[in-house]
Amino acid sequence: MSRERLLQRFLRYVQIDTTAGEPGEKYPSSDGQLLLGKMLAGELQSMGVDDAEQDEHGLVYGTVPGKVTGCPVVALNSHVDTSPETTGANVKPQVIESYQGGDIPLPGDPSKVISTSENPELNELHGCTLITTDGTTLLGGDDKAGIAVIMEVAQRILEGKASPTGTLKILFTCDEEIGHGVDYVDLDKLGADVCYTLDGPGANELNAETFSADLATVTVRGVNIHPSIAKDRMVNAIKAASLFVAGLPGDHLSPETTEEREGFVHPVTIQGGVGETTIQLILRSFETEELEAQAQMLRDLGQKIEKQVPGCQINVAIKPQYRNLRDGLDKEPRAVPIAEKAHQALGRPVHQRVIRGGTDGSQLTAMGLPTPNLSTGQHNPHSPLEWACLDEMEQAVELVLKMLEIWSTELKSADAGS
Ligand SMILES: [Zn+2]
Repeated sequence: MSRERLLQRFLRYVQIDTTAGEPGEKYPSSDGQLLLGKMLAGELQSMGVDDAEQDEHGLVYGTVPGKVTGCPVVALNSHVDTSPETTGANVKPQVIESYQGGDIPLPGDPSKVISTSENPELNELHGCTLITTDGTTLLGGDDKAGIAVIMEVAQRILEGKASPTGTLKILFTCDEEIGHGVDYVDLDKLGADVCYTLDGPGANELNAETFSADLATVTVRGVNIHPSIAKDRMVNAIKAASLFVAGLPGDHLSPETTEEREGFVHPVTIQGGVGETTIQLILRSFETEELEAQAQMLRDLGQKIEKQVPGCQINVAIKPQYRNLRDGLDKEPRAVPIAEKAHQALGRPVHQRVIRGGTDGSQLTAMGLPTPNLSTGQHNPHSPLEWACLDEMEQAVELVLKMLEIWSTELKSADAGS
């Protein structure tokens, strides 16, 4: 049956190593992503998505023709790569049928246990089918759960097992985990009016807000000279950079001291020597305007350190990364309410949560395609303790089909009927 097919899909996809590599060398950053994309394009073709293709960048596009015309074209997106934080090579998935509660030991590493104390949501999932690894790799539920859900949605529509829908577009991206998920996305080719990323945890979550994000590069220039003749001449950039880092706030504006809607300024790398030291910081806030205040704080701190360490020069350069997806959703004001309606129609609670990070949806929305995020049954991403819940994946399939049904009753443009 289709639930078993959903499980088999997921198991097939997670066993292909798609760990993202270093950004910049090639695109996508690892060959496994091309392999999985090719497999997905082939599977789409054989289920009847005639235009399914993997483009020259490894992205997979496809159209599931609908029965209803004149309604908005909806796209679904997930990413084929997995996080480089934990290896995704040789994933050995364990399937736990009818989970009976309690901690879950992982057979490949006795030190790795998925505990109910750290995963209280397990207490709600008795009787469900769970998938874990053997503890030596990540699982890749982020985001192969999303891929399996989208593939299953497509197949059920093509088999006539779903209520009538409009045209559905599918997009699988590469290198999302290293911040390059949308580098080569062609929105004209996709041709959608609204999109949903299927990349969220658990069940019944709806994410319509992400951080806005900038990257700050602080370059501290000193004067290097042989230590034997350095008196009154050397200016040590390492020491000045250390003062700069020590001057950053600690009890606020830091990831380790903030939660929910609080933003932060977070140093992530420091490298260099006596002559020049570079600090990279990520700036994060739900209010895009606050990023400028964070940048100004860094510039002020730089000037203070320049006075403290005569002869050093500190430059702060800011590069925008992504923007709160809320900021672009007004282009399609039905995107969130229709997702809510689908939950209600299925009698499910909907949990609207903000994401303290970005999604491909943040960038797609900024590019002009409104793209909220939905749950897929993934849990504990990027970790050997990662797990996924088949029942929640099945719920995601049902939810998306219901949402597509509701979209098919809408007119293409929000103001077309008024
Ligand atoms: Zn993801």
